Amino acid sequence: MERKMTGGCMCGAVRYEATGEPFAVTHCHCLSCRKHNGGPVVTLAGFKKEQLEFTKNDRKIYESSPGVGRAFCENCGTPLTWEGDGGELGQIFELHISTFDNPDVLVPTAHAFEPERIPWFDIADKLPRYEGFAEDSPLLRHGPIIED
Ligand SMILES: [Zn+2]
Ligand SMILES: [Zn+2]
Repeated sequence: MERKMTGGCMCGAVRYEATGEPFAVTHCHCLSCRKHNGGPVVTLAGFKKEQLEFTKNDRKIYESSPGVGRAFCENCGTPLTWEGDGGELGQIFELHISTFDNPDVLVPTAHAFEPERIPWFDIADKLPRYEGFAEDSPLLRHGPIIED
């Protein structure tokens, strides 16, 4: 039996169910994600199209660049997804992790777009930090730069 995880927006107008394991759980520091979310970093869990079902779906999609949608709830404004072409994965949905009912079990494994990180925001984990997408960009280092 594959794990099912549910989530949705703040008001409940958008609900989803994700089946099975995400292909990635990543902190993203890129400007676009931060802008969409309003926070200093965005943590995303990625699922393939066939793993995700919107059980209540009033989401609005803003096309942030050609073919890339960033969905949000039209009613309460909760930012929900990055959605678009995931290359060999097909259509993918990167769900904002705090929209899950139980995000505790989705543990991040990497930082993406480390060079775009807001300098005052850093966390002390030892996870790998990549220049761009974790899958296909140079690894910069593990963990923060320690200055004393
Ligand atoms: Zn809502
Ligand atoms: Zn991003």
